[in-house]
Amino acid sequence: MSSPSTPPGVTGALGFIVDLDGTVYRGADPIDGVAEALATVRAGGHRVVFATNNSAANVDTYRHKLHRFGIPTADRDVITSNQVLAARLAVDVEGFVWAVGEPPLHEQLTRAGIELTDTWQEAAAVALGWDRQFTYDKLEAICRARAAHVPVYATNPDATCPLPSGDVPDCGALIAAVERATGRPLEMVTGKPSPAMAIAALARLEVPRERCWVIGDRLETDIQMAADAGLRSALVLSGVSDLDDVARLPWQPDLVCSDLPETVGILVDDVTARS
Ligand SMILES: [Mg+2]
Repeated sequence: MSSPSTPPGVTGALGFIVDLDGTVYRGADPIDGVAEALATVRAGGHRVVFATNNSAANVDTYRHKLHRFGIPTADRDVITSNQVLAARLAVDVEGFVWAVGEPPLHEQLTRAGIELTDTWQEAAAVALGWDRQFTYDKLEAICRARAAHVPVYATNPDATCPLPSGDVPDCGALIAAVERATGRPLEMVTGKPSPAMAIAALARLEVPRERCWVIGDRLETDIQMAADAGLRSALVLSGVSDLDDVARLPWQPDLVCSDLPETVGILVDDVTARS
């Protein structure tokens, strides 16, 4: 829909940081042609890493889901906000962590060697993720932890998660409640648009950043991360953001396409023509 802006002279393998929900699939349904498009990308020697903010599932779940859609996926091909959060806490925090989230968040923290506690009073930090069992008591406890200078790290700022049944409140809504009640921003939110997510994805790709593109459906996470990290970006119109959002919001993608197959077709053809 608009021309790509791979810089003149850039040839060789491209790296793609690809969002999942709204970009590769919508709920239980893959976007048309996505498996074939990604197979062509990989056959051309280009690299792909999938990056998701959803903290209610772990890498195994995504790997199996992508396999079902005909997209071969190894563990290192998927990066989640839970992984980035766990890696950050493992470096930053000595002592117990109180995790407020769903079982995949607890699992990822444990896998990173972090010891968990059930009470904020024992915690050196709080890890906050999407939690569909969130309660007023948990909100109050997080606020008491903050008042006692216990840092709170959250997985992702998405206000909502798109489900086939409609959008439901995501971790961003919980972050907003905590920040409103305590009057200050959380210490860290690790998912997109955090640079921590971009750095982790670039490390997996092992492609020079000037050859890397972020492809996603949400301007305020995928496209903002790209802008903040100095990466090029393509917005796909198969998910949350639409052309009205592009006109209204400050984060401008380098390319706007209907979907992932169209996007990678344009970018791979472009770089192949330069080679
Ligand atoms: Mg998405």
